[in-house]
Order: sequence, then structure tokens, then C-alpha cells
Amino acid sequence: MSLSTLTSFVSCLSKELSDTTKIFSDPNNTEFNALLLRWSDINKQIPGAIVLVGTVDDVVASVRIAVEMGIPFVPKSGGHSLWSTIGSEGFILDLSQLQELTIDKNTNTVTLQSDVLVKQANDAAWSEGLCLRAQLSPFGGLNAMSSLCGYMSDNILAAKMVSAKGHLITLSPSSYPELLYAIRGAGQFFGVVVEITLQAYPSSILKMSDRTVWTGMMLFQISQAEEVFNALIPLTENNTVPAAGLCLITSAPPMFDTMCIVVLPTYFGPTSDAEKFFAPLLALRPFSTCNSIPYSKVNDAADAFCVKGGFKCLTGAATPNLDPDVWMKVIDHYEALKLKCPNAALTCYAVEWTAYLPEGEHHTDETAFSHRDIKIWAELLSWYTDSKSHEEVNNAEKDVFELVHGTQTAEERATYPNWSRDDPIESRYRDANRLVKLKALKEEWDPQGIFTRQLL
Ligand SMILES: Cc1cc2nc3c(=O)[nH]c(=O)nc-3n(C[C@H](O)[C@H](O)[C@H](O)COP(=O)(O)OP(=O)(O)OC[C@H]3O[C@@H](n4cnc5c(N)ncnc54)[C@H](O)[C@@H]3O)c2cc1C
Repeated sequence: MSLSTLTSFVSCLSKELSDTTKIFSDPNNTEFNALLLRWSDINKQIPGAIVLVGTVDDVVASVRIAVEMGIPFVPKSGGHSLWSTIGSEGFILDLSQLQELTIDKNTNTVTLQSDVLVKQANDAAWSEGLCLRAQLSPFGGLNAMSSLCGYMSDNILAAKMVSAKGHLITLSPSSYPELLYAIRGAGQFFGVVVEITLQAYPSSILKMSDRTVWTGMMLFQISQAEEVFNALIPLTENNTVPAAGLCLITSAPPMFDTMCIVVLPTYFGPTSDAEKFFAPLLALRPFSTCNSIPYSKVNDAADAFCVKGGFKCLTGAATPNLDPDVWMKVIDHYEALKLKCPNAALTCYAVEWTAYLPEGEHHTDETAFSHRDIKIWAELLSWYTDSKSHEEVNNAEKDVFELVHGTQTAEERATYPNWSRDDPIESRYRDANRLVKLKALKEEWDPQGIFTRQLL
């Protein structure tokens, strides 16, 4: 953005915005730099300006004027992706001030604005005796709760979105239902979602009257890896027991010089049942912190993965099963990466499973999210501190990605839509009919690609 375009944009915008909105255009300003912090510094750019909007009306005005003047922009909410960044040709529409949250106990619903973080939403619902199927993203949303109450996208009942024309529209089953379908899995490609209404659940869904969940960490030596993977096979295939988990190949803190295996199990039920189910792992005598803890604290262990800064990239691929031969080879790749790039020691290569199928499927309606059927995911978190390691880390990640895909053909592959924009669109949004529908909606609502050119 040239200085004259920036000046006229700021002057046009300032006339329409409320007092609560602030515009920053000086990269030396402290607040500008604080707003620019992201989960990952990969490809992070310096924008021409940051518009820190104060109200939904300000979002409407900003989008309308930017589109009229042909100025590109990206919305930013939590900043946990590689894509809420733009260079000097455009601006960041920062939604950090949109933090309203309301709970309707009559309908068991929670309505929240764009920048309410997972913990805030969970805690608010919890204090009203409710459980929210909430974690980082409305645009997919996989975690241990997926098998109990569907994906995050399944739980979006309504939304408000500012379209590429700068119109504020309400999405619900009776108002623009096709767009509601689209934002339930692909919202970042259709407009600025300023508000969503989520289904909440009575905490009885957790199966424990004290509202606890059995979870924690089991730490194994890397020499136990094969035994751990073998012990995990029946657990990842058991769809009758309310359990889920994540197994990571990583390096142990505080020095991150020793490789290890970490299992983060989740069990919905009494401690005694949990210990019985996970007995094959406990028999290997890990260092374990597993215990029954209040549901409101189950995400706390993930805080370490959410720190801002550093070079990080998350990718995910469906994997047909947990094959110990494959994962032993993944360990070799991890070890080789650490030897070449010691600064990548925080990298984790993981497998997550949610096999449990409760009686009576909760969510059958169609959404843009196409991976409800996937029960085992390989999740690769590349994390390094020296930008010179980028290529090595990236190559290692690609090799592991290929390994975990196994013998799947290109058509059979499924990759996680929130974590990549480079994988083929057919693997992120599977099923040809879904893709046809999404592309038609994109053509109708954002033909100029204001909200990325994905799906065009
Ligand atoms: C440590 C970690 C763990 C994760 N775990 C999971 C997980 O368990 N399950 C899961 O499904 N995902 C997970 N994710 C992925 C995460 O959900 C996505 O990266 C999500 O898009 C991040 O949202 P954000 O608002 O924080 O990111 P941002 O970077 O702010 O935004 C992400 C994208 O959406 C756009 N955008 C931002 N706000 C809006 C808006 N209001 N309307 C429209 N577009 C918008 C941005 O321009 C950008 O393209 C994880 C990510 C991290 C870093």
C-alpha cells in the first residue's frame, strides 16, 4: 500500500469508525508489534496497517471501504495460524476486541464473538453447569470431545458474518442455510465471522457426577516405543469405550536433548475404569500424572503448545491405523532431524485417535467439514528456532507425511483443513459433491477472492 493510499484509506475509515477502534500504521509502535505477535513466525509479514476494530459495525465499515478501495486485508482472531498475516500492500483486520459472550440456559447455547478464546468460553459455560465442545477452531474442531458431541463445526447453530460486499448477515437454518453449511468447516474462506452460537451440553455428558475427566500425561523412554505402539493398537481400535488419546514422539524438557514418547490419554468415566482400559500402557510403568480432573482444566496441558513466536507449523493426515512399523520409522526421521537441526528439538510427531462411537449418532447433518469418519490422525508439529532450518524441517515433515499416508492413493488421502492451505483441496474437503457445492458458494459470495482464492 503506498503512503497516499494508506492515508486516504485511514482518512475514509476514520470518519465511519467508533471511538473504540484504533488504527496503527507505524511498525516501530509498541502496540503495533504486540498486535503482530503470532503463534508462528513462518512467513510473518509487516502489514501496511493494523485496524483494531471495536465493534461489529466497525468490521462492516472496514470491509466495505477496503473492498471499495481495492485494498487487501486478512482477519485475525486468535493468531494461531500461518495465515492471519499480510504484507505492506494490505492491512490486518484485528478482531481482538470482539470478546462478548452470552449464555442462554434455556436453550443450552453459548453465543460468542470472534476473539473469545477456548478457555474463556469453556470457563464461562462451566460456571453455568454446562460443557462446551470448544477448542481452537470453529472451522473444523477435532479433540477428545469429538466422539461425545461431534466436531466444533457440528455444534455451530447460527452465526453472523460480514460478507465480501460488506453486509452483515445472519446465518441460521432459516436464513442463508447454505452459507451456514459453508462456515461450518470452511468459514475463513467466505467472510468475517463476527459471532457464532454454539450448542452446549449438560455436564452429565461427561458421565461423572463430579464433572471430572480422567486425563494427564504418561512419559515413556524412547526405548519402549515399540511396546507402547503395540499396546496402543487395541485402544485406538476400541469404539465401545469412551476414551481417546494422543501419542507423541518428542523430546523431554527441560533440555529437550532426550527423545521420549508421551501419551496424553482421555477417559470419560471413573478412575478405576480408566486405569483398567489403559492398563496395557500403565503396565509399561511410565512416569504418569494421570488423574481425574475437572473438565474445565482438560485443555490446560496444551498451553505449552500455544506460546507465541518461534517457527512452527502444524499439519495433519488421516492414517488408516496405528502401524508400529510406520511409527518406528517416524522415530528414525525424528532422530535424523534432531541431529541435523538441534534447534528443532521441540518438534513433535504424533498420532491422535477418537474411536469411540456413542449409541445414537449426534450429528448427521451435512457441513463443509468432511472428515467426521476419520478416527486416527497423524499430527506433525514442526517447531524450530533458527529460520535457516526451514528447508530441512520442511523436508523431514514431508517425508513423515508420506510415511503416515501408508499405501493410500491420492484419492483416498484426507488432510486436516485447518492446518494446511497447500495440500490438495480434494484431500481437505473430500467428496466431489461437497467441493462442487463449496466452489459454487464461493463463486456466489466471494468471486473476487477477498477471503483468499481457496475454492475459486
Ligand atoms: C497448538 C495448536 C493446537 C491446535 N489444536 C487443534 C485441534 O485440536 N483441533 C483443531 O481443529 N484445530 C486445532 N488447531 C488449529 C486451529 O484451530 C486453527 O489454526 C485455527 O484456524 C486458529 O484460529 P485462530 O483464530 O487462532 O487463528 P488466526 O490466525 O487468527 O486465523 C486463522 C485463519 O482464519 C482467518 N480468520 C480469523 N478470524 C476470522 C474470522 N472471525 N472470520 C473469518 N476468518 C477468520 C484468518 O485470516 C486466518 O486465515 C490448533 C492450532 C494450534 C496452534
